[in-house]
Amino acid sequence: MKKSKYLFVLLLLISISVVLLCGTFFYVKLNNKESDDSELLVMTSCNPVYLATINVVGDAEGVTVQNLSQPTTGCLHDYTLTTEDMKNLSKADVLIVNGGGMEGYLEDVVEAYPNLPIIDTFEAVEEDYPVIIEEEAEEEEEDHSHGTSEEHHHDEGANSHIWMSEEIYAGQVQAIADGLAALDSSNASVYASNADTFVSVMDSQIDNQGLDETLSGANVAVLHEAFAYTAQSLGANIVATMDLDEERQVSAGEVSDFIDAINENNVQVVFAEYDYGHAMGELITEQTDAKVVYLETLVHGEYSGLDYITVLNKNYAVIKNSL
Ligand SMILES: [Zn+2]
Ligand SMILES: [Zn+2]
Repeated sequence: MKKSKYLFVLLLLISISVVLLCGTFFYVKLNNKESDDSELLVMTSCNPVYLATINVVGDAEGVTVQNLSQPTTGCLHDYTLTTEDMKNLSKADVLIVNGGGMEGYLEDVVEAYPNLPIIDTFEAVEEDYPVIIEEEAEEEEEDHSHGTSEEHHHDEGANSHIWMSEEIYAGQVQAIADGLAALDSSNASVYASNADTFVSVMDSQIDNQGLDETLSGANVAVLHEAFAYTAQSLGANIVATMDLDEERQVSAGEVSDFIDAINENNVQVVFAEYDYGHAMGELITEQTDAKVVYLETLVHGEYSGLDYITVLNKNYAVIKNSL
C-alpha cells in the first residue's frame, strides 16, 4: 500500500513536469510566430502586378514580395492555382491581383482565406482610366465558349488586360502603393515615394519610337485582347479583333470575316502573340498586305526589376521595324 502511494506521487510529479515542459515549448512557439508576423508577406497574382509591387516595395523594412506560379501556356484568365500556391497563400498577409476577372480562381481564394486582404488594382483604376469595354462581349460569349467558369473575362464586358497600357499600369502602381500603405502605415511614405519614382522612370524610359504619331488613327487588327491596349496607347484604330488567347476552334467564317476586315480597311499592322496567333498570322500574311507582328504579353516566364519597361520597349521596337 505504501509503495503504490509513492508511485502515484511520482507519476503525478512526472505529469506535472510534462505539462510545464509542453507549456514552455508552446509558449516559445507562439512567440516565434509573433515575431514572424511582424514581417509582411505580400503575394502577387501575376507578372505585371509582381513587377509593379517589387518596385513599390523596394527595400521597405520587413516586407517580402512573392509571385504565385504563372501559366506556361494560354492567358492568365484560364489559369488555376496549384495546391502549392493555395498553401503559400495561408502565410500571406495580403494578395495583390490584377482583377477584372483575370484571376478566375479568386473566388476559391476568398472562400479558403476569408480574412486575407486583397488589393484589386482593376477595381481601383476602372473609374478614372481608359479601360476598354467590349461592345460585342455578350455576342462573343455565345460564339465561343472556351471556359465553363462564370468568372471568365468576357462576362464582365471589360477587357481586363489593362497592364498592357502604360497609362493604366501607372494607375495600378499607385493603387498598389495606396493599398499597401493602408495595411502597413509604417512604410506608407516609402511606398508612396517608390511609386512616384517608378512612374517617372516609366515616363522617361518607355519609348514608343514615335509610333503614337505614325500609327495615330491608323487601322490595325489584333489577335489577342491584350494588344487592344497596345493599340490604344498608340492611338491606333482597331477594326478587327480575334481573341486567340487560348486553345480554341476558329470557324472558317470567323477567319474569312477577319481577312475581309483587314483588306477592306487597309489594315497596316496586326498585333499577335506567337503561341496561339502564328497560324492565323501566316494566313494573314498570305492573303493581305498587312504586316503581322508578334508581341509579348508578360503573362509567361519570369521577370524582375524594370522588365516591364524592357518588354514594352521591345514590343514597340518590333512594331516600328515592321513598318
Ligand atoms: Zn487573355
Ligand atoms: Zn478568352
